Amino acid sequence: MTDNMTCNERRDGMQDRKASLLLIYTGGTIGMKQDPADLTLKPFNFEQILMEVPELHKFAYRIDSVSFDPIIDSSDIEPSSWQELAGLIEEKYDGYDGFIILHGTDTMSYSASALSFMLEGLTKPVIFTGSQLPIGMPRTDGKENLISAVEIAAAKDSSGHARVPEVCVYFDNMLMRGNRTTKVNADNFRAFRSENLPPLAEAGIYIKYNDALIIRPSDWNRRPLFRTALDTRVSILKLHPGITPQVVRDILCGKETRAVIIETYGSGNATSRPWFINLIREASAMDKILLNVTQCLAGSVNMDIYANGKILKEAGVICGYDCTTESALAKLFLLLGEYEDNREVRLMLEKNMRGEISK
Ligand code: ASP
Repeated sequence: MTDNMTCNERRDGMQDRKASLLLIYTGGTIGMKQDPADLTLKPFNFEQILMEVPELHKFAYRIDSVSFDPIIDSSDIEPSSWQELAGLIEEKYDGYDGFIILHGTDTMSYSASALSFMLEGLTKPVIFTGSQLPIGMPRTDGKENLISAVEIAAAKDSSGHARVPEVCVYFDNMLMRGNRTTKVNADNFRAFRSENLPPLAEAGIYIKYNDALIIRPSDWNRRPLFRTALDTRVSILKLHPGITPQVVRDILCGKETRAVIIETYGSGNATSRPWFINLIREASAMDKILLNVTQCLAGSVNMDIYANGKILKEAGVICGYDCTTESALAKLFLLLGEYEDNREVRLMLEKNMRGEISK
């Protein structure tokens, strides 16, 4: 242990020296290498990643690893990948103190949101991380991301419980609630933002935890519920000036669609043109679930502020509050998978299930 770490323990909580962690490698830039043939980045062997981070051996933790086969660019992530991840965590849950998921950044917020809903009553951390530059490159951000994610996954509070028993994204010194994150930058090391919730922890010389925000289980001894039934019959309608009735009709009233996330303007507003409102009413009459989330990065839907928002509410649209689109999608997949009756889904959508909305 270095002096810094001793200090860190004193100031920020305890490190469990004997912690056992499971590193799950799904793919992504962190483990990619340039293919000399066509100069594109392609995934490489997992063992090579660990060789690039000898610093991990300085922790006295037991770190086991398991890799997706095949490893994938996260643009290829599917709900079946989330089911695989949830199944793996369920199977290994009792053997480990925490889980770190190495994942591509492109869909990391979707995956972290999905896992946050699929794992109910977590007593251990599940930390997603990755990088913008491959881990073998001199200026990689992957090393710091991985090393701090490992330290956070092993952190305990003074009663010996996990410090952060939540599904999180750790990136560029910030630990964020997974279902609050969005990828906002394709180039910068600060690739993720959690605009509607401050970070759960920030890493500087010390890792400072924002304990007041961290969600803890009501019973530390109860095993979490692993909910893996997902129904993906959800569409996203992003409004924009000039959108046509035909496009809106196709999305709102599609035969295969059970729910539509409507990405509205500002605090939840949409055009008040009669054709649009009539289509909303038509979709409601077809029992489609219509959820209003804002296109803005920060702030919340409130359909009582403007007349244009109020019309939506009266036509049966449900308020998504300050939910991200990624989180709204994951919540709907889970609720549709769990409930046959759309009325139950609508009731649950209004509830704060995993800290995904400020309500
Ligand atoms: N395309 C990569 C992925 O999401 C990008 C990354 O990891 O940063 O898998």
